Amino acid sequence: MMLGRWLRNRFAWPSLRLVSNPSICADCKKCTSNCPMSLDVNAMVQLGKMENSECILCGTCVDNCSKHAIRYSFSSGK
Ligand code: SF4
Ligand code: SF4
Repeated sequence: MMLGRWLRNRFAWPSLRLVSNPSICADCKKCTSNCPMSLDVNAMVQLGKMENSECILCGTCVDNCSKHAIRYSFSSGK
């Protein structure tokens, strides 16, 4: 999975990824407390940097964000 992620990013292939909108984040940290990989999702949202090699794209943070500050996107991320 990590090699796939590296290749995808290296060649900017479109793929499923997370994108965030920090401007509408309420800083409730529900995304962080519910992440099964114990990632600091709130910090990722604030930085606008949702790419993390340990993220399994489970969507729990998307489902738990009542502000819709995190969503899936199918894009190259460029
Ligand atoms: S759950 Fe949504 S509103 Fe709450 S901290 Fe995470 S991104 Fe922000
Ligand atoms: S998609 Fe899942 S693993 Fe990735 S940051 Fe969100 S809750 Fe964590």
